[in-house]
Amino acid sequence: MAATNASGTTTVRYGGMHRQVLALEAVLANGQVIRTGTRAVKTSAGYDLTNLLIGSEGTLAVISELTLRLYPILDHVVAARVAFPTVQAACRAAAALISVGISVTRCELVDAATIAALRAIGSLELEQVPHLLIEFAGSQTSVADDIESMRDLVEAEGGRDVAFESDPTARARLWRARHNAAIALLALAPGSTAMTTDVAVPISELPAAIEAARVALDASGLRGGILGHVGDGSFHVMYLLAEGDSKSIAQAAALNDAVVADALARGGTCTGEHGIGFGKLGYLRREHPELVSLYSGIKSLFDPNGILNPGKLVPEPSAAAG
Ligand SMILES: Cc1cc2nc3c(=O)[nH]c(=O)nc-3n(C[C@H](O)[C@H](O)[C@H](O)COP(=O)(O)OP(=O)(O)OC[C@H]3O[C@@H](n4cnc5c(N)ncnc54)[C@H](O)[C@@H]3O)c2cc1C
Repeated sequence: MAATNASGTTTVRYGGMHRQVLALEAVLANGQVIRTGTRAVKTSAGYDLTNLLIGSEGTLAVISELTLRLYPILDHVVAARVAFPTVQAACRAAAALISVGISVTRCELVDAATIAALRAIGSLELEQVPHLLIEFAGSQTSVADDIESMRDLVEAEGGRDVAFESDPTARARLWRARHNAAIALLALAPGSTAMTTDVAVPISELPAAIEAARVALDASGLRGGILGHVGDGSFHVMYLLAEGDSKSIAQAAALNDAVVADALARGGTCTGEHGIGFGKLGYLRREHPELVSLYSGIKSLFDPNGILNPGKLVPEPSAAAG
């Protein structure tokens, strides 16, 4: 998780892995063991090598130990679900929640196609329209205040059927269902493969970006759904490929390209959490063309013989944009 700067449903409150790691131990390509950071929660001592290694996808060093930040367990937790007429309305409501500073621990969009798939496997019995699944945590009073403010904001966007769960088992079932989305989608077409692309955009751009992604998904001819960690402006487009079918692979590549191009045009990023690996090398070059030579320089400083995950994350300076 540290090597990919992983994040997920609770990132809207706590941030991704880069916010959780205070210090780390890593083994460099030449065998030297280094320690970066300290146990203090802040530092201004020199280059931030901890955060250079977080998200470096194993291309600079092998991380061997992490010192993590701890958080208190919050007293009172309530999950809410709200139905919306459209995904854009749901995203506008999410953007409004975040912009007025309502403290949410999760704020997830599940589109109508994904709700249908989850209903089909009996994981979530909700009406087949887009939903926001939200979680609040804090003191009884702060949660009650946040819920009150949330109601006004979601209703202003046509949100309805607001329902709450405070029972831990019911909440766990809700989040398990959310995490079952890929399994549910696969169950629609047994034998196929589920693929995902993820992007992140400024929250103000989210409604339009999700609309563009839905149009691209429909145009691709692939079956799929959209899920969003919409509280932090990131979303996944999931789609099904027929095993070994070159037509659906080409459709998927075009879909991925359209979603990423739209996110970049809106001032976003080609990947909010899944990383660059091999698959998004060309997009990293498109996102930060002026940084590629710096990336190469850092890579050769840490790994002069190119033995650590060669070919990943760092685009060849001469490679064409993807
Ligand atoms: C179905 C599915 C759902 C996913 N959901 C999420 C999600 O919600 N959020 C998210 O952020 N990602 C998600 N991912 C992407 C990915 O699984 C995560 O980024 C995950 O954190 C990878 O961690 P891992 O330990 O499995 O690493 P691996 O997959 O084993 O490795 C990932 C990369 O890190 C390198 N690496 C592994 N260990 C080290 C180490 N000790 N030191 C240096 N480099 C190392 C590897 O060489 C590789 O390049 C998902 C992937 C799938 C398939």
